[in-house]
Amino acid sequence: MFGIYSFSMFTRKTVSFSAALCLSVLLTNGLMGCQSKSATTSEATTTDSAKTATSDKPAAPAETATSAPDRSAEPSSSIPADKIADAATILARPQVPVLCYHQIRDWRGSDSKSAKDYIIPVQAFKEQMQILADSGYHTILPDQLYAYLATGAPLPSKPVMLTFDDGDLDQYETALPILDKHGFKGAFFIMTVAIGRRGKQPYMDKAQIKDLSDKGHTIGAHTWDHHNVKKYQGDDWKIQIEEPKAKLEGIIGKPVKYFAYPFGLWNHQALPEIQKRGYAAAFTLADKRDDQMPLYTIRRIIAGGQWSAKTFYRNMTQSFDGK
Ligand SMILES: [Zn+2]
Repeated sequence: MFGIYSFSMFTRKTVSFSAALCLSVLLTNGLMGCQSKSATTSEATTTDSAKTATSDKPAAPAETATSAPDRSAEPSSSIPADKIADAATILARPQVPVLCYHQIRDWRGSDSKSAKDYIIPVQAFKEQMQILADSGYHTILPDQLYAYLATGAPLPSKPVMLTFDDGDLDQYETALPILDKHGFKGAFFIMTVAIGRRGKQPYMDKAQIKDLSDKGHTIGAHTWDHHNVKKYQGDDWKIQIEEPKAKLEGIIGKPVKYFAYPFGLWNHQALPEIQKRGYAAAFTLADKRDDQMPLYTIRRIIAGGQWSAKTFYRNMTQSFDGK
């Protein structure tokens, strides 16, 4: 939980913190979700266009993990290293579609056109889940995808993974009942600085995050305050990668093994840094996967808020076909 120190820092940094969020960056820069629009349907290269979110480095390490157990010695996965396939084998396996969501709510008058690309109206989200169900898709969780990629473990027919970034409250209040209707499970990547935050853009609190975990969904890390991983140096690795993992583990009482890059941005230097801090795999957006560490660059696409169900289905199937 937040100590007094970190809470006061959070309060002082509310303005710059807000600027670091996907939504604000998107509204400012016209990006779609955590990535450029082209990246949702093609192999776009990463950009630094989200760099406005990188200017408010915490002044000092935050005391975010004081109540979390020390799990630093835990293995990142239950699969022994010598059982994990080589990169070429992993890259050769057919990709599983992985969808990325942010806010699930009806549009407001103040939402820009670009914001509407990643804010999914409730009815559109219902239709997207319905077409998955009607088409015979089965949701899988990161442990299943990891075992499949690492060892070739079997998956259910027509697998798909649903992921939700940042920890927005509407993911719990609005998306969860829709997932439940279909028996779907998802992975929720939480930005820990915002846990329990209320206001115009509210976030899940600790009890809600634990409830998701208890109900069989996966909780993953999404940094402390959404800074671009490509810019990390010094204590950033501890603040953004280590402490959020420990904090979330303290909340859910289980290991946190998966990470999603803010804005989908990563570089080659970051991959071993993520690995050595105990994560088994990490998720980008629509980039090409790394040819040496594909488990740390698993692709996702942002499900567009303005897509028809038919467009959604076409983009999902085409984006993960043969790459
Ligand atoms: Zn994000």
